[in-house]
Amino acid sequence: MTEIDGRATLIDGKAFAGQLVQRVTACVARLMADHGVRPGLAVVIVGEDAASQIYVRNKGERTLEAGMRSDTHRLDAGVSQEDLLAVIAALNADAGIHGILVQLPLPAHIDASTVLDAIDPDKDVDGFHVVNAGRLAVGLPGLVPCTPLGSAMLLKDVLGDLSGLNAVIVGRSNIVGKPMAQLLLAENCTVTIAHSRSRDLAALCRTADILVAAVGRPEMVRGDWIKPGATVIDVGINRVPSRDPVNAAEGRTRVVGDVAFDEAVMVAGHITPVPGGVGPMTIACLLANTYVAACRSIGVEPDTLAG
Ligand code: NAP
Repeated sequence: MTEIDGRATLIDGKAFAGQLVQRVTACVARLMADHGVRPGLAVVIVGEDAASQIYVRNKGERTLEAGMRSDTHRLDAGVSQEDLLAVIAALNADAGIHGILVQLPLPAHIDASTVLDAIDPDKDVDGFHVVNAGRLAVGLPGLVPCTPLGSAMLLKDVLGDLSGLNAVIVGRSNIVGKPMAQLLLAENCTVTIAHSRSRDLAALCRTADILVAAVGRPEMVRGDWIKPGATVIDVGINRVPSRDPVNAAEGRTRVVGDVAFDEAVMVAGHITPVPGGVGPMTIACLLANTYVAACRSIGVEPDTLAG
């Protein structure tokens, strides 16, 4: 964490994620030495979307760096749903693959939820399968979506015991908002989930000891929505025109979160920056989930990955 004079302490997700990857790498080495099992992650990508190609390449490189097996299946944008499901079925049956991730978005002719629910829940390292959502909701061990899992780790690192704290989560997606709410409920927070129909969002946010913004709207959460001293987790990743008008005219962009950082940093106690906050935790948690899935596949209790 980095303290800025008289302002919020920055939560250094990049550093925390680096430490988590180191722990996962050590656990992977132990799993191989003790049980001869090398965790394997298969990533399936359909089409040529440039951003998705970069994400998938990064995931492959990081998986190998952690000592795991990495397979990438690149399918043509026109692949039929049936053929895609056949790839998933083969990966489900492959004993050397412990985690399967289908890169989203998928082309419009493919039903994403049918594809995601075809993944064996025990290999669903993204945690998007309805069985894993159910396991999380009822408190059973499962695989938890990476972004909220990483966000919860950062919160526990900063605040320790979260019991009794008021948490407001803005956003109710199945990928971020809802699992975030379940994780914080499990940590004994009093949880409010806000969304596009919520009334007086600013007043709701001001009740939060923990404020999680997962909206997808650049800098929507303003400084005066934040309770002084609150911990702010900004999940948003939004591309906006560069601040410099010349660069902006040339089409250059910068990345901002869902929180107006320059205002929020003057009010919050702790805050994640964008970039460098939640983002790096997502891929670290993907590696962690793959390790956990590999352990469970042979009935071994995973080593604790908490810091
Ligand atoms: P999403 O599926 O589009 O969901 C957005 C949520 O925000 C919805 O629940 C929506 O409410 C709510 N919302 C939209 N406008 C609102 C408004 N004006 N007031 C209050 N609530 C509003 O998005 P997502 O997948 O959860 O992602 C959210 C953000 O996180 C995006 O910026 C995304 O890029 C980022 N993200 C980052 C990572 C990472 O690795 N850091 C990973 C995943 C996502 P309704 O349900 O009522 O429509």
